[in-house]
Amino acid sequence: MNSEQIEDFGSLVSRAERLLVISHIRPDGDAVGSLLGLGLMLEELGKEVNFVLEDGVPLVFCHLTGADRVSRKVDGIYDLIIVVDSSDIERIGSVLDEYGEPDVNIDHHPTNTHFARLNIVKDDAVATVEIIYDLALTLSYPISLPVAEALLTGLLTDSLGFRTSNTTPRTLRIAADLMEKGANMQELYRKAMLEKSFEAVRYWGQGLSRIKLQDRLVWTSLNLEDRRIAEYSGRDDADLVNVLSRIRDTDICVVFVEQTDGTVKVSWRSQPGFDVASIATQFGGGGHKPAAGAEIRGDLERVQEEVLEATRKSMGRSGKS
Ligand code: 5GP
Ligand code: MN
Repeated sequence: MNSEQIEDFGSLVSRAERLLVISHIRPDGDAVGSLLGLGLMLEELGKEVNFVLEDGVPLVFCHLTGADRVSRKVDGIYDLIIVVDSSDIERIGSVLDEYGEPDVNIDHHPTNTHFARLNIVKDDAVATVEIIYDLALTLSYPISLPVAEALLTGLLTDSLGFRTSNTTPRTLRIAADLMEKGANMQELYRKAMLEKSFEAVRYWGQGLSRIKLQDRLVWTSLNLEDRRIAEYSGRDDADLVNVLSRIRDTDICVVFVEQTDGTVKVSWRSQPGFDVASIATQFGGGGHKPAAGAEIRGDLERVQEEVLEATRKSMGRSGKS
């Protein structure tokens, strides 16, 4: 991100009246936080803003201001279309199929494909919300309390509560500034990251009951039957991968989640020194060195076998499970 890009962004915004902000499917806290944070900020500048997430806002982020205004489809005509926190255009689903290339892409994934006219990509940012915070500072956009809450949610969730290795003193200074603007960090942390539904924890139980460990690689899977038994309504892993990543003396963990459409959602997490984004990209996915994902066509068993083999290879190990 250079000053020319920030200027270009500022002039695109100042010329636009009707704006659309979009983020990725299976939205996480940074997707929702950057979507709402940027959109609400632009609204305070007097713009008309629409918000779109193909999968809607997950329950854990519904307390954020503006969450009830997020649509699942794009409708109408816009002067400026901005995509946030999405490394490639497929990540937003099919909502823009009729609209062509977006105008602006704001993201922090090293695997970003620069799919828009203006690409503001900063891969050392801990979260996309950090880039939005920097845009606000440079362009003197206002950061109201609802904006601060959205941005702090993205910062907290993508840094796993300031635990990831890319968390810097500056990350904490940004968080402190957002707290000074009135955001209640403890409350945002509890709602977005700590609290789980009873069903989600029961769903963890299904996955934890068949967890495997071999040569510092940990994995498990969640099938459709597990989801039914647990009465879990989401199609994600309920964050089980972040439970697995806490196991001592392991390097990489993987969770496989069977989907109803014949694909498997795979999530990797790794310790410093390992790069799971490069494994995810082999399967059409993406992400960051320590956290990556992909959606792979095929049945659970076959996908699991192929992914574990590629993962072992990248760890410099081979051998069958
Ligand atoms: P998670 O495993 O929590 O879904 O995602 C971890 C990281 O990988 C996030 O940065 C997320 O944006 C990225 N990611 C997850 N799934 C996909 C995918 O299917 N495609 C791409 N490009 N990135 C993904
Ligand atoms: Mn992010």
